[in-house]
Amino acid sequence: MPQAVVTGCGGFIGSHLVDRLLRGGHAVVGIDRRGTEEPEVARNLAWAIGQPRFSFFRGDLLETDLEHVLAGAQWVFHLAGRTGGWESWGDGFDACVRDNVTATQRLLDAALRTQPGRFIHASAAAVYGDDKLPMREKARLQPGSPYGVTKLAAEHLVRLYGQQYGLPHVILRLFTVYGPRQRPDMAFRRMMEQVRRHESVTVHGDGQQSRDLIYVDDVVRALVRAAKADRAQGQVINIGGGEPVTVNQAVALLQSQAGRPTSVEHAAAPLGEMTHTQASLSRAKELLDWEPRTPLEEGLRQQWIWLDLAPALARRAGLEAAQL
Ligand code: NAD
Repeated sequence: MPQAVVTGCGGFIGSHLVDRLLRGGHAVVGIDRRGTEEPEVARNLAWAIGQPRFSFFRGDLLETDLEHVLAGAQWVFHLAGRTGGWESWGDGFDACVRDNVTATQRLLDAALRTQPGRFIHASAAAVYGDDKLPMREKARLQPGSPYGVTKLAAEHLVRLYGQQYGLPHVILRLFTVYGPRQRPDMAFRRMMEQVRRHESVTVHGDGQQSRDLIYVDDVVRALVRAAKADRAQGQVINIGGGEPVTVNQAVALLQSQAGRPTSVEHAAAPLGEMTHTQASLSRAKELLDWEPRTPLEEGLRQQWIWLDLAPALARRAGLEAAQL
């Protein structure tokens, strides 16, 4: 069984990937700058941390001796990064460059010395501009936010290390991911918590913008396929649901699932927010033999269940409910 390294293992997608790899019998080394004293990380890694084949390495990609972390790994899954378009403007840009670009370059450089079988890089739909739908991998890339610019720069670095040094790699462009452990700043998590607290739901803009949504288990399945599929080598591949919904439709669905019609408050749309996203999935089908499986209603149900279980999970991880 190939040994894997997962960067950003304490986060939303990284922690699900760690669980999946461990369940598949792989030994996993996870690295994250956040430790398990953070409630969100403790909850995300609650199961993995007790597994004998899991080693958690607390460290920052910008400072750690990464050759040591990657030693012996066949697969390197790079999910660490600074997310969110809003904070990447102005003063937030520098941190975004360091976490998305400089950290990726350090990891790639270490990988040259340890020579993994494959480097699997998590990129984002944010590299696309407001362009023709569905978004195809070959489209002209004109990101609408500094975050998207840094994700695009990281893609170029991965491709360059592949071209110049022969580093085997795959780049996955993830669309909007949702499901259990979703980050607190992401729309579904925030809106679900508002509905649960009987508060008004905040919608940024008029709610007519649409998003291509993909359930986290489907993303994890795509990441594992990307590590194994021969035909994916050196390719850039979209991973999305393919059937976008508007924010207004999503809010209506959440309200009906919760059985609680709550009021909606509109706030300003953030600068550079994409109007519509929709993934073309033909490459994913062809190169990874991958298609999304989880219908939105089912995926959201799983996220509701997780939100209700979250306090119990935190207690198991030795945390006070008040810390949630
Ligand atoms: P997340 O914030 O939950 O997880 C990222 C983790 O990386 C965090 O735990 C953070 O502490 C860690 N990290 C960041 N910089 C680091 C550094 N320099 N050193 C060590 N650890 C560091 O984010 P997520 O939603 O799980 O996203 C994972 C990846 O997928 C990111 O690269 C993101 O750009 C990409 N992505 C996510 C989505 C989505 O909808 N969640 C969509 C498109 C792309």
